[in-house]
Amino acid sequence: EVYKRPLVYFDNAATTQKPVQVIRAISGYYEKDNCNIHRGVHYLSVKATEAYEEARREVRQFINASNTHEVIFTKGATEAINLVASSFGKKYIGPGDEVIISIAEHHSNFVPWQQVCMERGATLKVVPIDDRGDLVLEELWKMMSDRTKIIAITHVSNVLGTVKPVKEIIRRAHEMNIPVLLDGAQGIAHTVVDVQNLGADFYAFSGHKMYGPMGIGVLYGKEKFLEDLPPYQMGGEMIKDVWIERTDFNELPFKFEAGTPNVEGVMGLLAAIRYIREIGMENIAAYEEELLHYATEKLSAIKDLKIYGTAQHKASLISFNIGHIHPYDAGTIIDKMGIAVRTGHHCAMPLMDFLNVPGTVRASFAFYNTKEEIDKLYEAILKVKEMLS
Ligand code: PMP
Repeated sequence: EVYKRPLVYFDNAATTQKPVQVIRAISGYYEKDNCNIHRGVHYLSVKATEAYEEARREVRQFINASNTHEVIFTKGATEAINLVASSFGKKYIGPGDEVIISIAEHHSNFVPWQQVCMERGATLKVVPIDDRGDLVLEELWKMMSDRTKIIAITHVSNVLGTVKPVKEIIRRAHEMNIPVLLDGAQGIAHTVVDVQNLGADFYAFSGHKMYGPMGIGVLYGKEKFLEDLPPYQMGGEMIKDVWIERTDFNELPFKFEAGTPNVEGVMGLLAAIRYIREIGMENIAAYEEELLHYATEKLSAIKDLKIYGTAQHKASLISFNIGHIHPYDAGTIIDKMGIAVRTGHHCAMPLMDFLNVPGTVRASFAFYNTKEEIDKLYEAILKVKEMLS
């Protein structure tokens, strides 16, 4: 309950709530199995290591990677993208090269590439979107050239909900030998992700947006790139041999997992994957689409309410503004009615500039939300209008 009302949680794109299975997996790990991994021969260390590597195998299955060592545990999508931007940048990006992103990127997939380009004398090219929130693909095709070193785009936009035609983009990019990184922070929670079918060279996501804990995420990378890239961080675990004058690095995936990893997070992520599997991602996606459809119809009927992002392929979130009412004011009143929506720039300031708004109100749905809750949001918006118009 919040403010003595049953909470309506519509901030799932920021983070999802956690099922009891995930919470128990974490507390159970600390109650029974806590130990540092990979470095011991004793019972607990072996047990914790086995559980950790079992989780890696299940992540591989979950995203259908070809090899378990293509799954790198990170602290989240942000770290996964930074890893690639940094290591790929060092290895492959130089003066005169280009990196393509889109205007609809989260800062996590914007700033690392912007900075790498600045550091390495390369140019950042930014694909625009159209009125519905779809990428202007003709612009992307025109931008792609032999100077393009990588394309980094979000699978599903956290602001507009647009599901990008990533398979088509990857196909065209590969024809020109351009690798593609997908920011899957939102995609992973709403669609079946098959990295081989998509052809993605890198896929980054966070556990906490898919019912798992915070502080754990995954970088999937194709073996040929991961083998080739220099390590991102140095320390324990990522080494094979260390001498005073040099170091031999460990094999994959350990080369990219320096230091004591987030074992509790991995246990929680494993529980989240099993939980999603039990419900079925197809079922989740179908129900969320129903919610999206219902909410879109309902909210569209409100006079002066403008929805940002009306792409045909869209995940279950709605960004909107109500007339000239500032999103923070709207969000504050909606909150007082027990409904959690996010307001602001959603870590996508270039996109806000592009849309020419200071921010939006965003309601993002998960499979545990209901149509009755959407009705409550509708009532709350009417209240906002009544109070502030
Ligand atoms: N990309 C997108 C599209 C996101 O929505 C988010 C989280 N809001 C991120 C990247 C970053 O995820 P995290 O903060 O979990 O690393």
